[in-house]
Parts: sequence; C-alpha cells; structure tokens
Amino acid sequence: MIGGGALGAATAFHLRRLGVNDVVLVERDALASGSTSKSAGGIRAQFADELNVRIALRSMTEFESMGDEIAWRRFGYLFLLDSDDDLAAFRGALELQRSLGVPSTELGLDEVRELVPQLELEGIAGATFCPLDGYATPEAVVQWYARESRADIRQSCAATGIEVREGRIEAVETTRGRIETQVVVCCAGVWSRDVGAMAGVELPVEGEARSMWFTPEDGGLPARLPLTIDFGSGFYVHREGPGLAFGGRERELEDAAEAAARRLPVLVDLPVQTSWWGWYDVSPDWNALVGEAHGVSRFLYATGFSGHGFQQAPAVGEHLAELVVGKEPTLDLSAFDAARFASGASRPETMVV
Ligand SMILES: Cc1cc2nc3c(=O)[nH]c(=O)nc-3n(C[C@H](O)[C@H](O)[C@H](O)COP(=O)(O)OP(=O)(O)OC[C@H]3O[C@@H](n4cnc5c(N)ncnc54)[C@H](O)[C@@H]3O)c2cc1C
Repeated sequence: MIGGGALGAATAFHLRRLGVNDVVLVERDALASGSTSKSAGGIRAQFADELNVRIALRSMTEFESMGDEIAWRRFGYLFLLDSDDDLAAFRGALELQRSLGVPSTELGLDEVRELVPQLELEGIAGATFCPLDGYATPEAVVQWYARESRADIRQSCAATGIEVREGRIEAVETTRGRIETQVVVCCAGVWSRDVGAMAGVELPVEGEARSMWFTPEDGGLPARLPLTIDFGSGFYVHREGPGLAFGGRERELEDAAEAAARRLPVLVDLPVQTSWWGWYDVSPDWNALVGEAHGVSRFLYATGFSGHGFQQAPAVGEHLAELVVGKEPTLDLSAFDAARFASGASRPETMVV
C-alpha cells in the first residue's frame, strides 16, 4: 500500500478483514497528513450519480460502526440553490436518492429559516436536506482504521520506485529499503499521478488548492447546524469545536468573504482565528478513479475523488481489498476505471462542491 490517508488506511483494514496478514503500508510523512487532514469531514448521501449514492450508504454503515471515536455529527446537509437549473437538477437527484432509500427532501424557504434562522435567503430558488448526512473527524477515522488493520505501517517512508519486469510488479523501492511484493495499491491522493508513473500507469489526477477558515465563536448559530452549502458560490459552513469552519472555491479569504457574508451575515462580526489549505484530488469528470491497471499486472489505485474522497473511503477501501484477493466486489465500481477517458466514456458527478 502506498499512502496513509483515508483510502490507504481503509484498504489496509479491509485487507485484514479478508484475511490478508502481511500488508505493508508506506506513508512518506505521517498518517492522514495529506488531503485527509485538510478535509471538511463531510459525509453525504446527496449525490447525482447512482454509484456515489450507493457508496455513501455503504460507507455510512461503516462510519456508524466506529462509534463516538470519530465524532460524527449527523446534523444533515442543507444545499441552497440559487438557479432554476440547479433546482431542477437537484430535484432529479432527489428522485434517484429516494429510489435508493435515502430520506432526502426538498425544503421550502420557511423550513430553511426554521433550521438556520441566520441565513440570508435572497435569490434562493429552493433547497434540499438529508438527515443522514453530516461530518466527522477525518484523522480519527484514519487512526481507527490503522489500529484495526494491524498492518505494518511505516511512516516517514516514501515510495521512490516500483520495479516492474515483463508487466509484473516485483518490488517497491522506498527511502527505508526495498520491499518485495507482487501487488501495489496506490492510495497516494493527489500524488497518485507520480506513483502511477513509477509503474508506467497513467492516472489523470490534478491538484486544486482549497482553503478553510475557522472562527473561535459560533455567532449564535443553532446547536445542530447542518453542513450548509450555497451551491452557486461553493460557500459552506459547519460547526467546529465552539466555533465555525467555513470554506469555498476561493484560495484567499478576501475572495471567499463576499459569498460568505452575503449568505451568512453574522460571519462578518466573527474573527477568523486560523486557516489551512489542502489539495482536492480532481479527475477530468469530477468522479473517482478506482480500479486495477490494464498494462501492469496487480497495480490497483483509488484517487481523483474531486472533493469527496474522505467519505468514500470505507466502500472504496472495501472494493480495493476485494480486487486484491479476487473476491466478487460488493459494489460494481468498474465504471470508475481510469481507462474510461481513453474510450471517451466519462462519468460526470454534478453535485460537487
Ligand atoms: C479543504 C478541503 C475540504 C474537503 N472536504 C471534504 C469533505 O467534506 N468530504 C470529503 O469526503 N472529502 C473532502 N475533501 C477531499 C478529501 O480530503 C480527499 O478526497 C481525501 O482525503 C483523499 O484521501 P486519500 O487517502 O486518497 O489521499 P491523502 O489523504 O492525500 O493521502 C495520500 C497520502 O499519500 C502519501 N504519499 C504521497 N506520495 C507518496 C509516496 N511516494 N510514498 C509514500 N506516501 C506517499 C501522502 O503523504 C498522503 O498522506 C476535502 C479536501 C480539501 C482540501
């Protein structure tokens, strides 16, 4: 395994569950130090792609089994929609979600005000809400998986090369020595393109920098504040400790502040105590790249999650482990094969933040 974020740790856990006892996970820095620890921790079933809804439902069952340790606050996701086109698209997605058993629903503006009285709803055409959704602590999820996997986890250990002979993997070179193996699972996040290249596998993933900001107080917002997203601007907010965490598509606070203040005016009076930024691992169609390489035997990968990799780790980690041992996959994720672009078969997810 290469990479100790949500995906690598989840896959190591599922390999152990399937009886693989000799997993070595190499992480060049520390567990969860990549995109995973920079994530907003959002977990939702509100997607437009059927596979993403199925992945969410399967993943939620696993998050539930982790108990209080991961601080999963199930306060729902509230999407605010400011155009008729978005509203129509979300209504279509609601229909799909409900057909799969997700209790998501459209809310009138009065119902939105009841949930979050401080929101400014000028220009909002409609909203959707799902009570299954929420957010958890990504590092805690990685620690849970790492402990339960009982894998040989080597931190401060970077993979520097992959030895391939006649299309078969023989070993991984690392900064702490050579590891003989016939199977490599690449979970290196936005750096998966480089790791893929070590084995001659092309993974079309790009980094997109995203920031989050944190306030020390909550501006009187409800205790069970849903993870609220102004879909048009990308501004989102949720509780974090005694204060709030918010973010958007902009890298700088000055650029993000306008949309934030327009939708949630109480933010203007709150100091920003700290911030961070991290990489979205973006694929060409904003949907995941998951599967086994075609040109090189036993090189498996999961990346390109485009803003929803943390929450998909349980089901995708299970899937990778099943591919490793040759078990019939619980979910058929073959549509996420990275080779789809070469055959012109992209699979866009439209509900991305
Ligand atoms: C601001 C922000 C908010 C986000 N919000 C959400 C959200 O609400 N919900 C959600 O689901 N997702 C969210 N995401 C996306 C999510 O963080 C990622 O999709 C997810 O964490 C990817 O996990 P990963 O394990 O694939 O990658 P990473 O967590 O990046 O892990 C990859 C690891 O590989 C290691 N690595 C790289 N190269 C090597 C090498 N050569 N050798 C050894 N190790 C190597 C890295 O050090 C890293 O630790 C957000 C991202 C950002 C930046």
